[in-house]
Amino acid sequence: MIYDVLIIGAGVTGVMTARYLSGKTCSVAVCEAGCDVAMGATRANSAIVHAGYDCKPGTLKARLNVRGNKLMKEIAKELGVDCKAVGSHVVGFGEEDAKHLKELYEKGLANGVPDLRIIGQDELRALEPNISAEASMSLWAPSAAITCPYGLTIAAAECAATNGVDFYLNFKVTDSSRAGDIYYISSGENTIAARYVVNCAGVHSAEVAEILGELDFPIRIQPRRGEYIVLDKTCGSMAKSTLFVVPSSKGKGILVSPTIDGNLLIGPNAYAIDDPDDTNTTTPGLQEITDGALRLMPSVDIRNAITSFSGVRPTPNIYDFYIKNSEQLPGVVHAVGVESPGFASGPATAEYIAELLADAGLQYTDRDDFIPTRRKDGNPKLFRDMTDEEKNEAIRKNPAYGKIICRCETVTEGDILDALNSPIPAVTLDMQKSRNRSGMGRCQGGFCSPRVVSIIAEHENYGLENVTKRGGGSWLIVPKNKKEGDAE
Ligand SMILES: Cc1cc2nc3c(=O)[nH]c(=O)nc-3n(C[C@H](O)[C@H](O)[C@H](O)COP(=O)(O)OP(=O)(O)OC[C@H]3O[C@@H](n4cnc5c(N)ncnc54)[C@H](O)[C@@H]3O)c2cc1C
Repeated sequence: MIYDVLIIGAGVTGVMTARYLSGKTCSVAVCEAGCDVAMGATRANSAIVHAGYDCKPGTLKARLNVRGNKLMKEIAKELGVDCKAVGSHVVGFGEEDAKHLKELYEKGLANGVPDLRIIGQDELRALEPNISAEASMSLWAPSAAITCPYGLTIAAAECAATNGVDFYLNFKVTDSSRAGDIYYISSGENTIAARYVVNCAGVHSAEVAEILGELDFPIRIQPRRGEYIVLDKTCGSMAKSTLFVVPSSKGKGILVSPTIDGNLLIGPNAYAIDDPDDTNTTTPGLQEITDGALRLMPSVDIRNAITSFSGVRPTPNIYDFYIKNSEQLPGVVHAVGVESPGFASGPATAEYIAELLADAGLQYTDRDDFIPTRRKDGNPKLFRDMTDEEKNEAIRKNPAYGKIICRCETVTEGDILDALNSPIPAVTLDMQKSRNRSGMGRCQGGFCSPRVVSIIAEHENYGLENVTKRGGGSWLIVPKNKKEGDAE
């Protein structure tokens, strides 16, 4: 089969583009190096649907951020994913910050951010009772929102698959060729043919541009890692909205934010690293973000930390996103250097990429049978989100909903089987985690992981030793005759 469009990379940019195009009359495939969608920066970020006040007016970033903020909330609703406009504060400490807040306010007005206001200490303290006593004012942006970035991206991918998009996971693009107007994109073992190619490979997007055949590609990516700490749900309500400090040349600084699942998130820092896939956390890094969070909220008790993680920004050598038709390769669109606010911008970026594809010659019209939800019959609900009546009904229809597997997050066997039967089957431990939060509670999977592994193995009809944490060689159970690092 020759697809009309092949998208390389299943982060928010690639997946939102796939979902958007799945509403049009063109055939679409997505290939992704990882074993799941949302395996890059989209998995590990601050999860803020930024309001759009800190991008330079007139840039692509500013335009896509403000439109993306509006669209993201609409799409989340269509997909049944929580996205709450909790608002954000850029918190000022004294006169010097007041000047910066005024500048951000002016930029926000120029970018068209709705309902922005600078508020004084009393109002700030009324909205955020736990804020530092030193905080003297804030830039209040009520349109900023929080969501689950990978949850929303997975939901959008399921929707795209429901509408006919083919997903090729574990497909790392290593080679490409072109014959006539067809591109042959290869992972070494397998090849996908398409007339148009969209490069959404995140921190690897400049490399992929070269694999596609770009000579002297103008964009270079510097990977910049940001570390985070997640605090237990007992701390989730300490911040009512996202609290930023005044941004610096290194970025938006260390924030304190509630998460959509009720935890408290602190971080990130920002350090240039050599290995784009290095998502380690470090002791000094975690200390730095703790200190940063304490400046905003001195009552944060770090003893309530339940986990830490990091994500890598694809920082380009230009200020703006580089989202353009290739000048050398007809039919190729690059989405390179999509760093923050790339998540918030995702749905607007997708529309823009579709316009660029049309400029390059792709013809499409709207489909009248587009399904905006994850499945043909709507959006599935997790057991814990059901009403008592819905729970009783779910257990009556399928007793697997009566078996709790993850006690911390109230995940049932029915939820795990549903993820296995979804348009993108969740066959690894981490895939399950990102669909239903099994293993993400206070005990961090200590009780439920073996049970989830058994359910996956039984469903897939293979031995326990075949179940991995996140694909590749990340086996959880290593039989005596298999050593870690062996090929599968
Ligand atoms: C610390 C941090 C905090 C952030 N906070 C926010 C925030 O709060 N709000 C916000 O709007 N933005 C935020 N961002 C930015 C946001 O996360 C990114 O802009 C966005 O996720 C980029 O999405 P993407 O799809 O372009 O790239 P990615 O999500 O990185 O996806 C790229 C995909 O391409 C795949 N890939 C790479 N190479 C290949 C290959 N050769 N073949 C096949 N597939 C390949 C990768 O596996 C990956 O899945 C943050 C980023 C970081 C790192």
